[in-house]
Amino acid sequence: MEDSTALYARFTQCAAVSTDSRQDQTNTLFFALNGPSFRGRDFAPQALAKGARYAVVDDEELAATDPERYTFAPDPLLALQQLAHHHRRQLSIPVIGITGSNGKTTTKELLHAVLSRRYAVQYTRGNLNNHIGVPLTLLSINKQHELAIVEMGANHQGEIDLLSRLAEPTHGLITNIGKAHLEGFGGEEGIAKGKSELFRFLAATGGTAFVNTADAKLPGLATSVNEQVSYPNPTDSYPAELLTAAPNVVLRLYDGTVVEAQITGGYNFLNLAAAAAVGAHFQVPTADIAAALAGYAPTNNRSQLVRTSRNEVVLDAYNANPSSMAAALTSFAARPATGEKVVILGDMFELGEASVAEHRALGELLATLPFATVLLCGLDMQHAALQSEFHHFLTKAEAAAWLTEHPLSDKQILIKGSRGMGLETLLPLV
Ligand code: ATP
Ligand code: MG
Repeated sequence: MEDSTALYARFTQCAAVSTDSRQDQTNTLFFALNGPSFRGRDFAPQALAKGARYAVVDDEELAATDPERYTFAPDPLLALQQLAHHHRRQLSIPVIGITGSNGKTTTKELLHAVLSRRYAVQYTRGNLNNHIGVPLTLLSINKQHELAIVEMGANHQGEIDLLSRLAEPTHGLITNIGKAHLEGFGGEEGIAKGKSELFRFLAATGGTAFVNTADAKLPGLATSVNEQVSYPNPTDSYPAELLTAAPNVVLRLYDGTVVEAQITGGYNFLNLAAAAAVGAHFQVPTADIAAALAGYAPTNNRSQLVRTSRNEVVLDAYNANPSSMAAALTSFAARPATGEKVVILGDMFELGEASVAEHRALGELLATLPFATVLLCGLDMQHAALQSEFHHFLTKAEAAAWLTEHPLSDKQILIKGSRGMGLETLLPLV
């Protein structure tokens, strides 16, 4: 990485870094990043007028108009990444990288709840987990922080490698290897290879890997990492046991402590167990770990249990891919039934040429599960509509019309689909 010293001097005078001129710019260092349909430099004067202290632009002429406030960089994104890396190198705190196909954000939030019982923790906000979000997270770490948690997302090979080199994690966790972003990774083998870039970085740098031994692929990917901390099997460093998955997950921790979480779905057991293992490794007392896990209640459309005036809803509308869809459906099917079960499912995006087969496989899975009503929404979902009693709607508006005409009550309802489907907007109709 190139020398970022001059820009670093400017960064240290600012309160924050910004890449969006619509946000508050008070005393920021503004990076004029280019988008698919805009040039960042067009927004730089506005950012400065709104209070940004400095702006990094790829326009030499503009930079020359006010060298006191503009920094010229031929590639502002690269400059942002290099600055973040330079900043990271000034820090001597543990940095925990989290990647995996599903459950990164949930695990990150749970782990933040656990570690912040004992440490001043900086962590990825929301889902800022890509080549821009990771640098922004790194640049938000300051001298007060004792630990950092960095979510790393990827939809193609090499991305986790880049993010690892930027963040230089000392510790790493891969939640699982499933079928997410099949298109960009080139199939399941490609996904394992892409995610393992985090463990490869830890192997090369003497870091510590947290290894989920319940995922058949993960122990093999971690073999070259020197220090390994494993969960949740009985012979692992930090065993954990799933006691109940519904209505919310109840689990037993490594020392026998029982925790009743506020998240639903069997798959969340592993997210909880991961946060417990990492917390224990960092010597957070078990009572604090248990309290943090029990206290975490999602408000982000992920595995949220919502009681409407008429029904009980598992709102999992944040995202969907073949493995998270299967996990959510089997977990929902296993819930003790107090009423009929209804599933409202939306298209799974980013599957490329596997899309038709994956939607058909979903239809086959649905045919084996005991749901009273199956509503499928979106163009790709036509391939899952294998049974004549499944209702298929090309658009969300059509699904909404059906729900209005056929009001559901006293039902348990699962709502899940890809982010682009935004199925949470159907919630007021149930
Ligand atoms: P993204 O790639 O969008 O950043 P993420 O990996 O951060 O996703 P979360 O946002 O935590 O994942 O969860 C998204 C959805 O994935 C959840 O709503 C749930 O349906 C599913 N999910 C969460 N954890 C698991 C898991 N351990 N195994 C399978 N599915 C999971
Ligand atoms: Mg996420």
